[in-house]
Amino acid sequence: MGSETDAPGEDAPIAVELDGVTKRYAGTNAVDDVSLRIREGEFFTLVGPSGCGKTTTLRLIAGFERPTSGAISFDGEDVSGVPPEDRNVGVVFQNYALFPHMTVGENVAYGLQFADPPGGVSRAERVRELLALVDLAGTADRAPDSLSGGQQQRVAMARALAPGPDVLLLDEPMSALDARLRERLRVQIKAIQRSLDITTIYVTHDQEEALAISDRVAVMRDGGLEQLAPPRTVYRRPASRFVAEFVGDNNVFAGRVTGVDGSYPAADGRRTAAVDVGGETLRVAVDEGIEASPGDRLTFCVRPEHLRIGREENALRATVESAEFLGETTRVHLDWDGQEILVRTPDPVSGEIAVGFDPADAHVVAVDR
Ligand code: ATP
Repeated sequence: MGSETDAPGEDAPIAVELDGVTKRYAGTNAVDDVSLRIREGEFFTLVGPSGCGKTTTLRLIAGFERPTSGAISFDGEDVSGVPPEDRNVGVVFQNYALFPHMTVGENVAYGLQFADPPGGVSRAERVRELLALVDLAGTADRAPDSLSGGQQQRVAMARALAPGPDVLLLDEPMSALDARLRERLRVQIKAIQRSLDITTIYVTHDQEEALAISDRVAVMRDGGLEQLAPPRTVYRRPASRFVAEFVGDNNVFAGRVTGVDGSYPAADGRRTAAVDVGGETLRVAVDEGIEASPGDRLTFCVRPEHLRIGREENALRATVESAEFLGETTRVHLDWDGQEILVRTPDPVSGEIAVGFDPADAHVVAVDR
């Protein structure tokens, strides 16, 4: 099983590059001036809400669509004029679309209709290799509908991988499966990707899935790129309010800066800004390079797991509205003067409570003059 440390480094060669790519359909830019570079061997995920342009971006890379403007290159070569079948990509769609009248083995072999098996092996041998890779050895003679949804999706992956593509494109491959199965299958997909070291571009609207599976994540919104970073950075240091709220639970606060100084440093020594949020003064760590002055409007976020119940310092008082027991933790919804605040706690709470945070655990997402 791969781990985060296996991710290709910044100096890895670029496998796929989008340079100012726009795709316009009547009246809308489905993809709007997107530039990004995907590294060789990288597990790269496009994530965002419905309609943000993920699938269109993937279809442009596959060659099923042509950009209205901008360029796409593979290994530094412009692929504008190259049809999908010559791009050496393997594609897996959400509805795995196996042929029901063919056996599992014949479905995998279908992936070899335009290409000989790599490595000079026979087609039968290649089918055996691929079925073993996706942990379905011995199923070649079965009918697809005798397999579970997760197994069928792995057959679809084996079919896409059969000709030995340079790039694997996966469009919401698990959306038809139940949550439990998705969690298992994503571990398998990642393991297969790592064992082949194949550049993989994955589309999902599920931010948790994106964090779990990816080397880097591109968060999309309205056709554009909102942030492109490793999962931990996207989670801990969201680049905008949109990312802060889209990825995981978060509490976003906005208020006026009343001062920035070292009189109340964060636990990690950074200077803090005092921010007046609805009459309450809260202290927030401010990074080097971020300009914030009294009077500026500052927006910051604090994750529910960083709000400490009972902490009176750098705190606000809010009223418990409801609680969801989630097993290892309870997610509590608080009302703070009309704003919903989320906290996580192992123990039940009720009534009016103080919740506070260390300024270092707050993350500034915007400063407006
Ligand atoms: P979802 O998660 O719902 O699949 P998405 O992020 O993949 O969404 P796209 O399918 O790329 O989004 O669509 C982006 C935008 O482009 C949407 O507004 C969609 O309606 C529009 N769009 C996509 N394909 C076409 C098309 N063939 N003709 C016209 N508009 C299209």
